[in-house]
Amino acid sequence: MDTILSINHISHSYHTLKGETPALRDLSFTVHTGEFLAVVGPSGCGKSTLLSLIAGLLTPEEGEILLHGKPVNDQKEKIGYMLQRDELLEWRSIYRNVLLGPEIQKSLTPEIKQRARDLLEAYGLGQFQSSRPSELSGGMRQRAALVRTLILNPELLLLDEPFSALDYQTRLNVSDDIGQIIRREGKTALLVTHDLSEAISLADRILVLSIRPASLKTTVSLHFDFPGQTEDTPLNRRNAPEFKTYFNLIWKELNQHENQPD
Ligand code: ADP
Ligand code: MG
Repeated sequence: MDTILSINHISHSYHTLKGETPALRDLSFTVHTGEFLAVVGPSGCGKSTLLSLIAGLLTPEEGEILLHGKPVNDQKEKIGYMLQRDELLEWRSIYRNVLLGPEIQKSLTPEIKQRARDLLEAYGLGQFQSSRPSELSGGMRQRAALVRTLILNPELLLLDEPFSALDYQTRLNVSDDIGQIIRREGKTALLVTHDLSEAISLADRILVLSIRPASLKTTVSLHFDFPGQTEDTPLNRRNAPEFKTYFNLIWKELNQHENQPD
């Protein structure tokens, strides 16, 4: 399997007037091309910090982050970053929100415009191209935000709790929906979440982080044995016997705090 991303012994702290907050400590892992990796860990343990480092928005104090074996800082355009809040601009239509990235990159070609229309159509937003974000439901907004990330054709998608602002039922539907879209597009994805069920229903592998400063507690590869014609979908996973086993296993890991903070 090809390695797309290597995280090698990274440590990072925030320095403020109040002092130093160590966020990550000696964290290492790799991500394979095409893999859907979920990262779970307690609230405040350093998950968002990890994504900001991978996206090149922060530079690690120690260690290195390599994309295809080279420093990530020179290849930020290969990474798409989707946040918890969808950050859609209210004064732009959905179509023009999707085109914001290409506009900023000055790559607004007729092909890109067509791709925007095709993606919006494919993901159920064809009728809403000229709507404003406030006219869409939370789930549709999240899909529009995903299309805006996909339009730049990133190789690696970073998703920071993208469903947590949605109510429970919408979250189930939208996370299943977006999980399938990402698989269909053949992207490598790194999903940060504090929702263990969401991670188990979507990922190929789960990294479990410790309490802050985050280090790697364990990684769990997920395998589901579906009978006959049953497809490997998030909903079918939730009903499979393996689901509970993985849940209990990872739950235990998450709640075992051998190293107390600082
Ligand atoms: P998570 O996403 O797992 O909830 P974060 O990565 O956002 O955690 O934060 C990890 C720790 O770093 C928290 O204690 C948080 O308060 C602190 N932190 C995050 N961003 C900053 C910042 N810009 N300045 C200072 N401290 C920060
Ligand atoms: Mg966070």
